[in-house]
Amino acid sequence: MSCAPEVSPEALDALSGVSASADHSEAVWTPIAEEAERATRVKHPTNRLPRPFRRRVLAVANQKGGVGKTTSTVNLAAGLALQGLRTLVVDLDPQGNASTALGIEHRAGTPSVYEVLLGEIGIVDAVVVSPQSSNLLCIPATIDLAGSEIELVSMVARESRLSRALSSGVLDELGVDYVFIDCPPSLGLLTVNALVAAREVLIPIQCEYYALEGLGQLLRNIELVQAHLNPALTVSTILLTMYDGRTKLADQVTAEVRQHFGDQVLRTVIPRSVKVSEAPGFGQTVLAYDPGSRGALSYLDAAQEIALNRGYVDGGHSGNGHSGEGHSGAREVSR
Ligand code: ATP
Ligand code: MG
Repeated sequence: MSCAPEVSPEALDALSGVSASADHSEAVWTPIAEEAERATRVKHPTNRLPRPFRRRVLAVANQKGGVGKTTSTVNLAAGLALQGLRTLVVDLDPQGNASTALGIEHRAGTPSVYEVLLGEIGIVDAVVVSPQSSNLLCIPATIDLAGSEIELVSMVARESRLSRALSSGVLDELGVDYVFIDCPPSLGLLTVNALVAAREVLIPIQCEYYALEGLGQLLRNIELVQAHLNPALTVSTILLTMYDGRTKLADQVTAEVRQHFGDQVLRTVIPRSVKVSEAPGFGQTVLAYDPGSRGALSYLDAAQEIALNRGYVDGGHSGNGHSGEGHSGAREVSR
């Protein structure tokens, strides 16, 4: 006869705030108690994260397809929103996957980032609040964006159109602390627009063979943008995704990436998890879809690590380090 599971060391870790996801990602069997602890941590995070001393704008980029750009964008944004930070996701991929995962309409004709880039509407006309959280905003992408790389070519200031739109003061009014720009899998004009609009680049790297292939090209492009268009740009964050603890390869890739990028690599690693891949099918982030999953807790932890990066928090981790404009009282945004 089975008896009730005792509280596992992992659950105790979770209770004491130590990252269970990073340290126990090799576990293949998850006790119910552990899952319940994770769900509690994700649904009722005890930490109110500090606001950055200035708004942080991160381009989530890697021209390699399917490495977890969109998944990381939406789940990190959801993790920050859950912990009290107002976060905007700019969906800059014509596939519109980030919009889907946030439960936001993105049929052709929906006011979107495409019209914003063309200068036809302002961002306030395209921003939508995600049904998942009033702290989570999104500028959706529609299929119209697919032609924009060509349309932008002949436009004035073609590389800085997103940057101009985002610096319009509207984000101050909306009280946005974080902006994540989900890039398409290419190094074309859309990604360049993201790199010019951002101050930071977040590179998701999949723990797979060939993971580092093509990274050199991405880094060279970032250097070009730094040199000519956006001197403030830095690669602040590397996130290892789809880690499968059963394979040696995952550990080899992790070690290689850490050796190469050092402190830029988050300690938290995102495990490969079916729940993470199922969530967008329900128009949800994994934090909403299955808060008890290891994927959900990993993204919550990763969001925390990003927010607690000392380089971006004024006066330590006090939770009130914002010297800027302050949250807008009006939380709801409508078209
Ligand atoms: P693209 O280059 O096409 O925009 P991407 O880099 O944005 O792709 P995602 O769409 O986030 O990558 O992920 C690619 C696929 O891998 C998706 O089907 C997603 O659900 C799945 N996936 C992402 N992260 C995980 C994970 N941690 N565990 C399992 N599946 C995952
Ligand atoms: Mg994507």
